[in-house]
Amino acid sequence: MTAIVSAFSRIGEENAFAVLARATELERQGRDIINLGIGQPDFPTPAHIVEAGIKALCDGHHGYTPATGILPLREAVAADLHRRFAVEVSPDSVMIVPGGKVTMFMAILMFGEPGAEILYPDPGFPIYRSMIEFTGATPVPVPIRESNGFAFSAAETLSLITPRTRLLILNSPANPTGGVTPKAEIDALVAGLGAHPQVAILSDEIYGTMTYDGETHVSLLSYPEIRDRLIYLDGASKTYAMTGWRLGWSVWPKPLYDAARKLAVNSHSCVNAATQWAGVEALQGSQDCVRQMVEVFDRRRKLVVEGLNGLLGVSCITPKGAFYAFPNVTDTGWKAKPLASALLEEAGVAVIGGPDFGIHGEGYIRLSYANSEENIARALERMGEFLSRRKAA
Ligand code: PLP
Repeated sequence: MTAIVSAFSRIGEENAFAVLARATELERQGRDIINLGIGQPDFPTPAHIVEAGIKALCDGHHGYTPATGILPLREAVAADLHRRFAVEVSPDSVMIVPGGKVTMFMAILMFGEPGAEILYPDPGFPIYRSMIEFTGATPVPVPIRESNGFAFSAAETLSLITPRTRLLILNSPANPTGGVTPKAEIDALVAGLGAHPQVAILSDEIYGTMTYDGETHVSLLSYPEIRDRLIYLDGASKTYAMTGWRLGWSVWPKPLYDAARKLAVNSHSCVNAATQWAGVEALQGSQDCVRQMVEVFDRRRKLVVEGLNGLLGVSCITPKGAFYAFPNVTDTGWKAKPLASALLEEAGVAVIGGPDFGIHGEGYIRLSYANSEENIARALERMGEFLSRRKAA
């Protein structure tokens, strides 16, 4: 077999999928596993959205669509952004893609090359770094610190920009920390970016509908001064519990839109047609389903944080968004990855070690509370029992 190109020696992946595979394997062996590892809502897609998908199939939407997506969905995205953030977005700048990931894939391909630097949050979604490395660009981690409530620090982010910086990746509400960057910090960051016009911005707002404690989501779309270099990433996976449908959308500055369209033509052609019609219903139908899911997540969030803070050697700040808790486990004496592994193998609780999200994730584990209150309570009990029984290896 001949070797593939060397870039593939640099591409990474998401360990959450490996943990899911191991959890499934243990279940197959008869073990009772509680999965707090995977980052997907445990709710089914709301019925009216499923029905719209079925109707689209029955109505004969079986063929290719334009690579940028059907106009009704691009219009629905623009209307939704106007409703949520009072911003003007042209449907012609909206691109429909198969999942949130595809927007980051395209954006990083557009700006990543040897010699270029790309700033990304650490701990952060692992695909950012993986794709940056794939392109040969230099990944520059922006530390996301517990002492800062897991928010971006404008000053620290700006201090990492050099003349070689081509792209800055932001994510709030954040995976894996649940951190939400306050408006004042985003204001300061955007103001500082004025001095660095060569830096494009990719704002991953896929958890934008999931904030708590009265926190309102501030979109980077709300800053007209950066709109000509802002790529906005969003999608249906988390908000509408549609991870398996593969539906995302992005807003691109005019000069980049055609490059994104060409990447779509060269890869997936379009998102499957019925999924796009389901997306129209998701955005135009009642948003009660979103509110209800967020209310349930909020209850679980409180349960998780309270429970974690009662465990030996564990402390957890209250996450303000998404559906993750990122407790500090330093005082257990365990390193994060061996702890995550032992929790799965010995206690039957799947969580992800913080280092799977970057070097600054050491000392933490990620729990997804996209699971029932009953399972969360059982998981916490098992973790508590494990930590009082087992000293660090
Ligand atoms: N961005 C972040 C921060 C995520 O956590 C995820 C999924 O976990 C994605 C993007 C990708 O979403 P999708 O499943 O729609 O590709």
